[in-house]
Amino acid sequence: MTQLNETHDPTLTSWVADADASDFPIQNLPFGVFRREGSDEAFRCGVAIGDQILDLAALADLGTLSGLAATAADAGRDATLNRLMGLGAAAHSALRLALSRGLRAGAAEATTWRACLVPEEDAELALPARVGDFTDFYTSIHHATNIGRLFRPNNPLLPNYRWIPIGYHGRSSSVILSGAPVRRPVGQKRPPVNEDGSPARPGFSASARMDYELELGVYIGAGNALGEPVSLAQADDHVFGVSLLNDWSARDIQAWEYQPLGPFLAKNFATSVSPWIVTLEALAPFRTAWTRPEGEPEPLAYLDSERERAEGALDITLEVWLETTAMREAGTGPERLSVGSYKHAWWTLAQLVTHHTVNGCNLTPGDLLGTGTLSGPEAGSEGALIEITKGGKEPKTLSNGETRTFLDDGDVVILRGWCQAPGAQRIGLGEVHAMVTPARTLA
Ligand code: MN
Repeated sequence: MTQLNETHDPTLTSWVADADASDFPIQNLPFGVFRREGSDEAFRCGVAIGDQILDLAALADLGTLSGLAATAADAGRDATLNRLMGLGAAAHSALRLALSRGLRAGAAEATTWRACLVPEEDAELALPARVGDFTDFYTSIHHATNIGRLFRPNNPLLPNYRWIPIGYHGRSSSVILSGAPVRRPVGQKRPPVNEDGSPARPGFSASARMDYELELGVYIGAGNALGEPVSLAQADDHVFGVSLLNDWSARDIQAWEYQPLGPFLAKNFATSVSPWIVTLEALAPFRTAWTRPEGEPEPLAYLDSERERAEGALDITLEVWLETTAMREAGTGPERLSVGSYKHAWWTLAQLVTHHTVNGCNLTPGDLLGTGTLSGPEAGSEGALIEITKGGKEPKTLSNGETRTFLDDGDVVILRGWCQAPGAQRIGLGEVHAMVTPARTLA
């Protein structure tokens, strides 16, 4: 696992103005893709520092880096992070160290690197990676229990849950960047039950139970060859970093379609991701013990290690905010619906990678894993409306008197994340936001 090093030193400050108290201080250095807004420049990779973006292509042109750091910066010339991701953890770490040294207050590089900065407000951001495959997991036992209770009040968790990181293969073509609107989908609905038992026809209409799911997105760095599993000890070296992910869900479409093969059109109409990927190395100060409550079974050996137990979990605070049309018109700003931490997940990032590859399945650079909806053990940390409203039966009253069971057109859902720990500089994941727009008109 990544050890703490000089790049995590909380006393470091940057010569980039106002970076130190932002989501993106010098201890963070997250990666994304951008170009100047309104230009016909090529998209290229950059690193966020405060409200600025350090242009990796411009930095590579300066020719001041060497070794693996130079190789990594050169890969930053591409319009996606995939090549850089595929270079592996040693290259990512070398580039991070070089950037940390060059961006520090007092660094001689300030005179030349300043020309490589682009204000984020002048930039057009793009999807950080070409996502080849998207896999969504189900790693919050609190979410799984809350959902299971809606259908099986006395037996909410299925017997496999405690043993297998449950997942399914999603759709990568509809992974979209924060800010892009999400159109309410239409689809089939469960047929009404006829009194005489005759077969009814399913409904076909706009989803009336549109929901969000608070998740982390995990981007794969170095891949593995087909047939070659990634052990738990190696797994972190295959993770590039994490972002925020909203796995939009149409609960009424899902209820009718999901058996026996699982989620399909209720899920694949949109998956929103935040623009900046925070590397696993940047998250090192926020590692914490991965534990199971007393009496819960030990995982199978391939998913267990002393190191994983000691520091396999990540304490990332996660929030969901909602801004309705009425809030926007009143200028009150969004309202927070929930807050929790990723540390409560039943499975760690490394366990997801190891389980995903245990059968020989190959992961490739830029592949995206969703953690699944992240709900915590306490009230107020539910990561989806279906949990907050008990399947739509208990509407949520907002502070302005509006109510929601599921999302309305015009609602903007905002997911935010940040990390704080004693002896560490606070870092943020930024946010992912998107507005729900009306469904297409049906003839
Ligand atoms: Mn999901």
